[in-house]
Amino acid sequence: MRIRGKNEPYKNPTWLAHQYHRLQKSSTTIANEAGVTQQIVIYFMNKFGIERRSRVSAGRLGMKNPVSRKKISFSKLGKKNPNWKGGVHIKADGYRLVRSLGHPYADRQGYVAEHRLVMERHLGRFLSPGEIVHHINGIPDDNRYANLLLFSGQKEHLRHHHLLSPGKLIPMRKAKG
Ligand SMILES: [Zn+2]
Repeated sequence: MRIRGKNEPYKNPTWLAHQYHRLQKSSTTIANEAGVTQQIVIYFMNKFGIERRSRVSAGRLGMKNPVSRKKISFSKLGKKNPNWKGGVHIKADGYRLVRSLGHPYADRQGYVAEHRLVMERHLGRFLSPGEIVHHINGIPDDNRYANLLLFSGQKEHLRHHHLLSPGKLIPMRKAKG
């Protein structure tokens, strides 16, 4: 299926995340198929908070060849991956990632942020990539449901931070609820 032109599907965060993370297309490929420039695709990915593959991993995966790409990504999954730590990974910024194979918004290694999984379990549905889960006490690995707040987008999320501290935007991770 190809959507192009006036439909502007790249303005839909769910569609965009699906193309990039699920179908493993490059931003260039998505741009070509949507009939826009790569800059536009990257602009919307940033806007929706869709995490991008690093240049290094994109290169390593041989972006031009879907077959080799698939082979490599599967061989790097789970226990065969030198970074395997029993399915939970703590990112440098303190967020916990949980291996969730089959999750529509898992990253390339099959990980999803734990606070998003907790919220999804509570809601009984997947979050769209544009939705933001905020930590009330500012502690990024305190993923008790009571510590989480859901925002429909970054705009609402930033507004909340702004309301907490009028006049200046407090950094995401320093937010105190
Ligand atoms: Zn926040």
